Amino acid sequence: MTMLAIEGLKVRYGAVEALKGISLEVGQGEVVTLIGGNGAGKSTLMRAIGGLVKVAGGAIRFEGRDITGIRGHDCVRLGIGHSPEGRLVFGDQSVRDNLVLGAYARRDEDGIASDIARYFAVFPRLAERQDQLAGTLSGGEQQMLAIARALMARPKLLLLDEPSLGLAPLIVREVFAVIRRLREEGMTILLVEQMANQALAIADRAYVIETGAITLEGTGAELLRDERVRSAYLGA
Ligand code: ATP
Repeated sequence: MTMLAIEGLKVRYGAVEALKGISLEVGQGEVVTLIGGNGAGKSTLMRAIGGLVKVAGGAIRFEGRDITGIRGHDCVRLGIGHSPEGRLVFGDQSVRDNLVLGAYARRDEDGIASDIARYFAVFPRLAERQDQLAGTLSGGEQQMLAIARALMARPKLLLLDEPSLGLAPLIVREVFAVIRRLREEGMTILLVEQMANQALAIADRAYVIETGAITLEGTGAELLRDERVRSAYLGA
């Protein structure tokens, strides 16, 4: 079943056309990866799906419903969780309070408490630092917190924007292990990654985006073998 369907999506920043008519789909339970160079429009696409930028044309459908132009908090309520690029955690709040804030649209106190316990088990570093101010966490720890905070909304679709950005190799491995685990639990994920090799290896399908347009698509395995992808994104 198609969970997310995007058709001819356009986004402009003033005179800059950042997305020039993007079409893509994410099926329920799929992990779909977007790869592309700097400034290709990956974060813009994630922000458009999450209701954080104005859409200039085209349509976004989520579970069959047209959500084009709806606002960020309504996207969260509908089940779209966004872990943004650059680990935008609430720096002056504790780790635990960041997780509570991630669940702001929920009213099930027991469920919220059990989810916090669950993500502390997934990310033991966060459990150890639960009373520490998020702004004093290391980059990798903030990234884990951003992912856990997005999950606290119990999203049906998780948007992960460059979860490995700026992280040490060991931490990157941990982050990918978490993504693999979420995938095994059936989470639907749209993943933007510079680590194209690892991202394609865990993706069911992937799209290549270049200057605001999709130029290639296929299964993760197909794109891993593709000569154009290998020379442009895999350093082969
Ligand atoms: P990166 O991998 O470098 O993060 P990206 O693929 O995520 O890149 P975007 O951040 O989506 O790319 O940017 C796409 C284009 O839109 C770029 O040319 C960027 O300069 C431009 N852009 C992004 N945000 C804004 C903004 N708020 N105002 C004006 N231009 C913007």
